[in-house]
Amino acid sequence: MARTRAGRQAKTEQGRTHEAELRDVVKRLLTLLGEDPSRHGLEKTPERVEKALRFMTQGYKQNIDHLLNEALFPLEYDEMVIVKDIDFFSMCEHHMLPFFGRCHVGYLPRRKVVGLSKIPRIVDMFSRRLQVQERLTVQIAEAIQEKLKPEGVGVVMEARHLCMMMRGVEKQNTIAVTSSMLGAFRTQQQTREEFLKLIRRGGAGDPD
Ligand SMILES: [Zn+2]
Repeated sequence: MARTRAGRQAKTEQGRTHEAELRDVVKRLLTLLGEDPSRHGLEKTPERVEKALRFMTQGYKQNIDHLLNEALFPLEYDEMVIVKDIDFFSMCEHHMLPFFGRCHVGYLPRRKVVGLSKIPRIVDMFSRRLQVQERLTVQIAEAIQEKLKPEGVGVVMEARHLCMMMRGVEKQNTIAVTSSMLGAFRTQQQTREEFLKLIRRGGAGDPD
């Protein structure tokens, strides 16, 4: 689908206005916090924050079909596939503060597998949005279930939330754990247990 030059230009201009507005908002925020946005160290802060925020929320602009493009292929493999210890960084929608940790994904293929590197990409896509950990976990599991149609999917996320560590309850060592089990991972205890055993620290393939 060819886009016209005028269309592209309009889009760029729109993007530029959007960026400029976001920078203005950050400048205003600095002022309201009692800072002087024109002082040396803060001069470029609105621009940096704007870029960082857009990076950390780029998942809104990504599309799973595009991401999985040509990475699904048929394979007669019916053992569990696990990708564990995927680092992720997200932001809680209540405070817009980071929560981050590790995500473990497992699925039981049904004549179709996905390139292993795509699993962390799926995790990134949903993490780089404003989230709550519970919904993030479910979205990753449901996306894999929908696109791969496997026998089942399991997703476990372990995270620290800066909104809990820096403020609020100020608990520094608390880790929130969420999980989503679909298909065989939900209905078959043995499958679920195998998954949980394999992702446990010190489990197979873990050098720790
Ligand atoms: Zn929060």
